[in-house]
Amino acid sequence: MNKVILILSDALRYDAAVAGMGYLGHLVETKQASLYKVIGELPSMSRPMYETVHTGLPVSVHGIYANYVVRRSNQVNIFQAAVEAGKTTAAAAYYWFSELYNRSPYDRLDDREVDDGTLLIQHGRFYTEDDYPDIELFVTAGMLVRKFNPDYLLVHPMGMDFKGETFGADSPEYRNQAVFQDMYLAALIAEWMQLGYNILVTGDHGINADRLHGGTTPEVREVPLFLIQPGIPGKGDTGEIISQLQIAPSICNLLGVPVPETMLHPPIV
Ligand SMILES: [Zn+2]
Repeated sequence: MNKVILILSDALRYDAAVAGMGYLGHLVETKQASLYKVIGELPSMSRPMYETVHTGLPVSVHGIYANYVVRRSNQVNIFQAAVEAGKTTAAAAYYWFSELYNRSPYDRLDDREVDDGTLLIQHGRFYTEDDYPDIELFVTAGMLVRKFNPDYLLVHPMGMDFKGETFGADSPEYRNQAVFQDMYLAALIAEWMQLGYNILVTGDHGINADRLHGGTTPEVREVPLFLIQPGIPGKGDTGEIISQLQIAPSICNLLGVPVPETMLHPPIV
């Protein structure tokens, strides 16, 4: 079935995910999921990587080169490819996604909750505070699935980034947040697998012990990709290293929509 849920966990490092996410680890161990190591694009900043993940383009091409570049995307992206193919889109995400794909600048009252078929994110639920609880974000995502049955859903929790920037990556608070996210997600992922969704779990960038990201080191670049395809056996821990630029065309293939010709990197599925 051509439905996809992308869980883009902000600042989810590869090592923290592998060490802390036991339910996803179970799916990998039992070959119900495939695990890849993703080398993130540069700079390892949020808004630039949101656009890279959704367009398959490097920063120098899409032009969202820093967090302060506040405008709509002007590149073909996953939401657009899905909507143009007649698919239904949804997101439970930080408000920067509303700015990139719906309207910019963000109006807290008008844009927080939208159900509008003319938008690229047709069913959007957005938050503005970095300490917005992950569990609230996840249940919003679960509600969007039950209520709207979207073909493409973006789920974007900020908890790893908030704990990492507050306590540093070498802290129990950061590491434990991966355990909590995995625990919260387990029941949702099980439900979404039953519904036939393809599910991807990845990060936009990592974070370092200095409570920051943006540089070039492995701790800010290496993020996981867990891939679950209902009805298709997973490959377990593949040991493969892939580019972040491969995610967008892979999602287009999973959605069954044409891969935009701007997405040049080979899809993994
Ligand atoms: Zn981020």
